Amino acid sequence: MADRLSPLDLMTKLISFPTVSRDSNLPLVDWVEDYLDSHGIAAHRFYNEERDKAAIFAHVGPGIEGGVVLSGHTDVVPVDGQPWASDPWTVVERDGKYFGRGTCDMKGFDALSLWALVEAKYRDISRPLQIALSFDEEVGCTGAPPMIERILQTLPRASAVIVGEPSMMQAVTGHKGGQGFWVDVRGFEVHSSIAYRGVSAIMEAAKIINWANEVNAEEAAKTPDAMATLFDPPYTTLHTGLIEGGTAANITAKHCGFDLGFRAVPGDDTGAWRRRVLDRIAEVEAGMKAVHPDAGIDVTPRFGVPGLKPEQQGEAEALVRAITGDNATHVVSYGTEAGQFQERGYSAVVCGPGDIAQAHQPDEFITVEQFNAGHDFMRNLLERL
Ligand SMILES: [Zn+2]
Repeated sequence: MADRLSPLDLMTKLISFPTVSRDSNLPLVDWVEDYLDSHGIAAHRFYNEERDKAAIFAHVGPGIEGGVVLSGHTDVVPVDGQPWASDPWTVVERDGKYFGRGTCDMKGFDALSLWALVEAKYRDISRPLQIALSFDEEVGCTGAPPMIERILQTLPRASAVIVGEPSMMQAVTGHKGGQGFWVDVRGFEVHSSIAYRGVSAIMEAAKIINWANEVNAEEAAKTPDAMATLFDPPYTTLHTGLIEGGTAANITAKHCGFDLGFRAVPGDDTGAWRRRVLDRIAEVEAGMKAVHPDAGIDVTPRFGVPGLKPEQQGEAEALVRAITGDNATHVVSYGTEAGQFQERGYSAVVCGPGDIAQAHQPDEFITVEQFNAGHDFMRNLLERL
């Protein structure tokens, strides 16, 4: 019989693959597939269009519906330019912490999930356990939706999903959703002394960005509903984090590009927010075209992540609360794949070891205590299956 690796050995192995989102994760997927296969577990792959990345998912237990999914992502953020005290791709234990890129976000949880799946294989479980390890989470959660479709076509439908993003093992039942766009503004160049005959892409972009400021102020002034009050801030926000453009101080800018995104409280209609953003952009564009027909605005969607709505009597929430004993209400401001599972009809909750504050940092770590708490969680889960 093949060796059963400990959660720490599994995490060490997963972190040795530098699966930064821009690079292939196939060496990691190959390894996971072989490892599961050595324990008689048949895994399935779902490739991206370029076929340089894949999600991997698997089912253990009776071939029936109603199982539990452990969901993680295989990609990590880059380490470029970050000062690390030790090699990011080698797990090192110091001062009660395991250091390494992805220890916290989220190969620690991936390792615990793989451990649990293999353990489940050797037990007589009556409720199935599944894992789903995605790609491209860190670049806008774009890998999970097609993976979820494939899982629904391939495996018996599970009913509860635990997304193991770092939450200090608390049951997180809600998060904001969001959409992001890249906005390319095309101006018409003239000397700035006669700017009225031209179209400055920068000045037009500024109208849209300032509109975002005004909307933020309006939203902040509203009285939030019960759902919104759970969040900080308790309203939907618009933001631009990146802008580029212009040629010279005395030329109306031919080009300005910027990102524009919103984070919506669950319960707010993201479709309506999207239309609101696009309508404002169209309005500005119409003004530009009135000056010169070649001027215009192109909008490219960058990402769209649905919010996670706290569920009424949610099955995933109840399961996690029973295991952790955590009965408090927690919502977070970061997006996860939980909203995407929920959108496809699963009951979903976020619960994983580690603190989000350590995610994406140089010297990223998970405390030994949190990692062990994750291990206890998995042991407890297995007892219940
Ligand atoms: Zn993550």
